[in-house]
Amino acid sequence: MLSQCLNPACSATFRYMHEGRVFTVERTAPSASLSQPLLRSVERYWLCSDCALMLKVVLENGAVTTRPIRPELSAARKNGGSKMPATP
Ligand SMILES: [Zn+2]
Repeated sequence: MLSQCLNPACSATFRYMHEGRVFTVERTAPSASLSQPLLRSVERYWLCSDCALMLKVVLENGAVTTRPIRPELSAARKNGGSKMPATP
């Protein structure tokens, strides 16, 4: 999981923990056990330094994928949550 940058357009390989950013994704799945009805599993994904500046890792419909980080959205929330224009 951690051997390569999660960005499919990037071919950077994971070498050191201090490079880039490691994302932890926790999944839950139903289990047959009554004492522990949910199985939890933790997966780790890595984005290289360059990609970590632009992307974040999200769990979407059960699949792990990358999404662009939009600093302007979090800035808008701080300013009272005004609606953002639909520009990418
Ligand atoms: Zn990368």
